[in-house]
Amino acid sequence: MAELSDGYKQALRQPRCKRENFCYTDKMDILTSIYFIAIVIQMVIRAPISNKQRKEPKSNRQVTAQEKVLLGFLFLADFFIPILYAATSWLDFADYSLPAWAGWLGVAILAVSLIVFWRAHADLGLNWSPTLEIREKHELITRGIYGVIRHPMYASQWLWVIAQPLLLQNWIAGWANLIFFIFFYSLRVKAEEKLMLEQFGDQYRSYMQTVGAVFPKI
Ligand code: SAH
Repeated sequence: MAELSDGYKQALRQPRCKRENFCYTDKMDILTSIYFIAIVIQMVIRAPISNKQRKEPKSNRQVTAQEKVLLGFLFLADFFIPILYAATSWLDFADYSLPAWAGWLGVAILAVSLIVFWRAHADLGLNWSPTLEIREKHELITRGIYGVIRHPMYASQWLWVIAQPLLLQNWIAGWANLIFFIFFYSLRVKAEEKLMLEQFGDQYRSYMQTVGAVFPKI
Protein backbone atom coordinates (compact mmCIF):
# COMPACT_ATOMS: atom_id res chain seq x y z
CA MET A 1 0.00 0.00 0.00
CA ALA A 2 1.26 3.48 -0.85
CA GLU A 3 2.55 5.57 2.02
CA LEU A 4 0.22 8.37 3.14
CA SER A 5 1.75 11.83 2.76
CA ASP A 6 2.62 13.67 5.98
CA GLY A 7 0.09 16.40 5.24
CA TYR A 8 -2.66 13.85 4.76
CA LYS A 9 -1.77 12.04 8.01
CA GLN A 10 -1.89 15.38 9.78
CA ALA A 11 -5.31 16.13 8.31
CA LEU A 12 -6.63 12.76 9.49
CA ARG A 13 -5.33 13.33 13.00
CA GLN A 14 -6.73 16.83 13.41
CA PRO A 15 -10.44 17.57 13.60
CA ARG A 16 -11.30 19.85 10.67
CA CYS A 17 -13.46 22.06 12.82
CA LYS A 18 -11.26 24.31 14.92
CA ARG A 19 -12.82 24.08 18.40
CA GLU A 20 -13.62 20.53 19.41
CA ASN A 21 -15.92 21.54 22.25
CA PHE A 22 -18.17 23.56 20.01
CA CYS A 23 -18.21 21.83 16.62
CA TYR A 24 -21.31 20.68 14.87
CA THR A 25 -20.15 20.43 11.27
CA ASP A 26 -16.68 20.01 9.85
CA LYS A 27 -16.29 23.76 9.36
CA MET A 28 -18.64 25.74 11.60
CA ASP A 29 -18.57 25.83 15.36
CA ILE A 30 -21.28 27.02 17.71
CA LEU A 31 -19.42 30.13 18.88
CA THR A 32 -18.83 31.42 15.35
CA SER A 33 -22.49 30.81 14.48
CA ILE A 34 -23.64 32.68 17.60
CA TYR A 35 -21.43 35.62 16.56
CA PHE A 36 -23.14 35.84 13.16
CA ILE A 37 -26.61 35.37 14.67
CA ALA A 38 -25.83 38.34 16.96
CA ILE A 39 -24.87 40.43 13.89
CA VAL A 40 -28.23 39.61 12.32
CA ILE A 41 -30.03 40.57 15.56
CA GLN A 42 -28.18 43.93 15.55
CA MET A 43 -29.24 44.52 11.95
CA VAL A 44 -32.88 43.70 12.77
CA ILE A 45 -32.81 46.13 15.73
CA ARG A 46 -31.18 48.92 13.73
CA ALA A 47 -32.80 48.60 10.29
CA PRO A 48 -36.17 50.30 10.99
CA ILE A 49 -34.51 53.29 12.73
CA SER A 50 -31.77 53.53 10.12
CA ASN A 51 -34.30 53.66 7.25
CA LYS A 52 -36.43 56.33 8.87
CA GLN A 53 -33.62 58.56 10.16
CA ARG A 54 -32.03 58.77 6.71
CA LYS A 55 -35.06 60.79 5.52
CA GLU A 56 -34.97 63.17 8.49
CA PRO A 57 -33.89 66.75 7.71
CA LYS A 58 -30.55 67.62 9.36
CA SER A 59 -29.37 70.96 10.74
CA ASN A 60 -25.77 69.95 11.42
CA ARG A 61 -23.66 67.14 10.04
CA GLN A 62 -20.03 66.48 10.95
CA VAL A 63 -18.33 63.71 9.02
CA THR A 64 -14.55 63.81 8.81
CA ALA A 65 -12.46 61.67 6.47
CA GLN A 66 -10.74 60.23 9.54
CA GLU A 67 -14.07 59.03 10.92
CA LYS A 68 -15.10 57.53 7.58
CA VAL A 69 -11.84 55.55 7.49
CA LEU A 70 -12.31 54.34 11.07
CA LEU A 71 -15.92 53.32 10.38
CA GLY A 72 -14.63 51.37 7.36
CA PHE A 73 -12.06 49.57 9.53
CA LEU A 74 -14.73 48.80 12.11
CA PHE A 75 -16.92 47.24 9.41
CA LEU A 76 -13.99 45.10 8.28
CA ALA A 77 -13.21 43.95 11.81
CA ASP A 78 -16.84 43.41 12.81
CA PHE A 79 -18.03 41.57 9.71
CA PHE A 80 -15.64 41.01 6.85
CA ILE A 81 -12.65 39.55 8.75
CA PRO A 82 -14.97 37.23 10.77
CA ILE A 83 -16.42 36.00 7.44
CA LEU A 84 -12.88 35.22 6.23
CA TYR A 85 -12.19 33.47 9.52
CA ALA A 86 -15.36 31.35 9.28
CA ALA A 87 -15.38 30.58 5.57
CA THR A 88 -11.70 30.19 4.66
CA SER A 89 -8.60 28.74 6.23
CA TRP A 90 -6.52 31.87 5.49
CA LEU A 91 -6.46 33.03 9.11
CA ASP A 92 -5.96 29.57 10.64
CA PHE A 93 -2.31 30.32 11.44
CA ALA A 94 -3.51 32.85 14.05
CA ASP A 95 -5.99 30.55 15.84
CA TYR A 96 -5.88 29.91 19.56
CA SER A 97 -8.05 27.75 21.73
CA LEU A 98 -9.71 28.70 25.01
CA PRO A 99 -11.50 26.44 27.50
CA ALA A 100 -15.25 25.96 27.02
CA TRP A 101 -16.19 28.26 29.92
CA ALA A 102 -14.45 31.19 28.20
CA GLY A 103 -16.55 30.62 25.08
CA TRP A 104 -19.77 30.64 27.12
CA LEU A 105 -18.63 33.75 29.00
CA GLY A 106 -18.27 35.39 25.57
CA VAL A 107 -21.83 34.35 24.70
CA ALA A 108 -23.14 35.86 27.97
CA ILE A 109 -21.28 39.16 27.35
CA LEU A 110 -22.61 39.27 23.78
CA ALA A 111 -26.16 38.74 25.06
CA VAL A 112 -25.82 41.68 27.48
CA SER A 113 -24.36 43.76 24.62
CA LEU A 114 -27.43 43.03 22.49
CA ILE A 115 -29.86 43.93 25.29
CA VAL A 116 -28.07 47.28 25.83
CA PHE A 117 -28.00 47.85 22.02
CA TRP A 118 -31.75 47.20 21.80
CA ARG A 119 -32.64 49.50 24.72
CA ALA A 120 -30.41 52.28 23.35
CA HIS A 121 -32.17 52.16 19.96
CA ALA A 122 -35.60 52.04 21.60
CA ASP A 123 -34.80 55.14 23.70
CA LEU A 124 -32.77 57.20 21.18
CA GLY A 125 -35.12 56.49 18.24
CA LEU A 126 -34.72 58.88 15.30
CA ASN A 127 -32.04 60.89 17.15
CA TRP A 128 -29.66 58.04 16.32
CA SER A 129 -27.25 58.44 13.39
CA PRO A 130 -24.21 56.48 12.20
CA THR A 131 -22.10 59.64 12.00
CA LEU A 132 -22.35 62.83 14.06
CA GLU A 133 -25.53 64.62 13.13
CA ILE A 134 -28.15 66.91 14.61
CA ARG A 135 -31.57 66.60 13.03
CA GLU A 136 -33.88 69.60 12.79
CA LYS A 137 -36.18 68.17 15.46
CA HIS A 138 -33.34 66.78 17.58
CA GLU A 139 -34.33 66.01 21.16
CA LEU A 140 -31.84 65.43 23.99
CA ILE A 141 -32.68 62.01 25.39
CA THR A 142 -31.97 61.55 29.10
CA ARG A 143 -34.62 58.95 29.90
CA GLY A 144 -34.59 55.16 29.86
CA ILE A 145 -31.13 53.69 29.44
CA TYR A 146 -29.83 57.25 28.71
CA GLY A 147 -30.72 58.01 32.35
CA VAL A 148 -28.24 55.31 33.41
CA ILE A 149 -25.33 55.99 31.01
CA ARG A 150 -24.75 58.65 28.34
CA HIS A 151 -23.34 56.28 25.70
CA PRO A 152 -25.21 52.98 25.84
CA MET A 153 -24.53 52.20 22.16
CA TYR A 154 -20.81 52.59 22.70
CA ALA A 155 -21.08 50.61 25.97
CA SER A 156 -22.79 47.86 23.98
CA GLN A 157 -19.96 48.01 21.43
CA TRP A 158 -17.35 47.76 24.23
CA LEU A 159 -19.07 44.58 25.46
CA TRP A 160 -19.14 43.28 21.89
CA VAL A 161 -15.43 43.85 21.22
CA ILE A 162 -14.59 42.21 24.58
CA ALA A 163 -16.77 39.17 23.72
CA GLN A 164 -15.38 38.84 20.19
CA PRO A 165 -11.94 37.35 21.14
CA LEU A 166 -13.75 34.81 23.36
CA LEU A 167 -16.02 33.72 20.50
CA LEU A 168 -13.74 34.05 17.47
CA GLN A 169 -10.61 32.48 18.90
CA ASN A 170 -8.15 33.98 16.47
CA TRP A 171 -5.59 36.76 17.02
CA ILE A 172 -6.84 38.67 13.96
CA ALA A 173 -10.59 37.97 13.75
CA GLY A 174 -10.99 38.16 17.52
CA TRP A 175 -8.93 41.26 18.31
CA ALA A 176 -8.96 43.65 15.34
CA ASN A 177 -12.35 45.07 16.31
CA LEU A 178 -11.17 45.88 19.84
CA ILE A 179 -8.07 47.69 18.55
CA PHE A 180 -10.03 49.78 16.01
CA PHE A 181 -12.77 50.53 18.52
CA ILE A 182 -10.30 51.97 21.04
CA PHE A 183 -9.30 54.57 18.41
CA PHE A 184 -12.86 55.15 17.26
CA TYR A 185 -14.24 55.57 20.79
CA SER A 186 -11.59 58.04 21.93
CA LEU A 187 -12.10 60.27 18.87
CA ARG A 188 -15.87 59.92 18.59
CA VAL A 189 -16.90 60.58 22.17
CA LYS A 190 -14.89 63.80 22.37
CA ALA A 191 -16.38 65.13 19.12
CA GLU A 192 -19.88 63.95 19.98
CA GLU A 193 -19.91 65.58 23.41
CA LYS A 194 -18.58 68.82 21.92
CA LEU A 195 -21.44 68.76 19.41
CA MET A 196 -24.01 68.00 22.11
CA LEU A 197 -22.67 70.85 24.27
CA GLU A 198 -22.91 73.27 21.32
CA GLN A 199 -26.46 72.16 20.66
CA PHE A 200 -27.87 71.73 24.16
CA GLY A 201 -25.49 73.83 26.33
CA ASP A 202 -26.23 73.72 30.06
CA GLN A 203 -28.80 70.98 29.64
CA TYR A 204 -26.08 68.62 28.37
CA ARG A 205 -23.53 69.97 30.88
CA SER A 206 -25.74 69.04 33.82
CA TYR A 207 -26.57 65.69 32.15
CA MET A 208 -22.80 65.00 32.04
CA GLN A 209 -22.51 65.80 35.72
CA THR A 210 -25.22 63.41 36.82
CA VAL A 211 -24.94 60.52 34.32
CA GLY A 212 -21.74 58.51 33.63
CA ALA A 213 -20.34 57.89 30.12
CA VAL A 214 -20.30 54.08 29.85
CA PHE A 215 -20.39 53.17 33.57
CA PRO A 216 -23.31 54.25 35.74
CA LYS A 217 -22.35 56.85 38.36
CA ILE A 218 -22.86 55.68 41.92
N1 SAH B 1 -23.35 58.15 22.08
C1 SAH B 1 -24.70 57.63 22.07
C2 SAH B 1 -25.38 57.81 20.70
C3 SAH B 1 -24.65 57.25 19.54
S1 SAH B 1 -25.44 57.63 17.99
C4 SAH B 1 -24.68 56.21 22.54
O1 SAH B 1 -23.62 55.62 22.65
O2 SAH B 1 -25.78 55.67 22.79
C5 SAH B 1 -24.68 59.19 17.60
C6 SAH B 1 -25.67 60.32 17.52
O3 SAH B 1 -26.46 60.34 18.68
C7 SAH B 1 -24.99 61.68 17.45
O4 SAH B 1 -25.08 62.16 16.13
C8 SAH B 1 -25.74 62.58 18.44
O5 SAH B 1 -26.37 63.61 17.75
C9 SAH B 1 -26.79 61.68 19.03
N2 SAH B 1 -26.86 61.68 20.50
C10 SAH B 1 -25.92 61.27 21.36
N3 SAH B 1 -26.36 61.34 22.63
C11 SAH B 1 -27.64 61.80 22.56
C12 SAH B 1 -28.65 62.08 23.52
N4 SAH B 1 -28.45 61.89 24.82
N5 SAH B 1 -29.85 62.53 23.07
C13 SAH B 1 -30.06 62.72 21.77
N6 SAH B 1 -29.15 62.47 20.80
C14 SAH B 1 -27.97 62.03 21.20
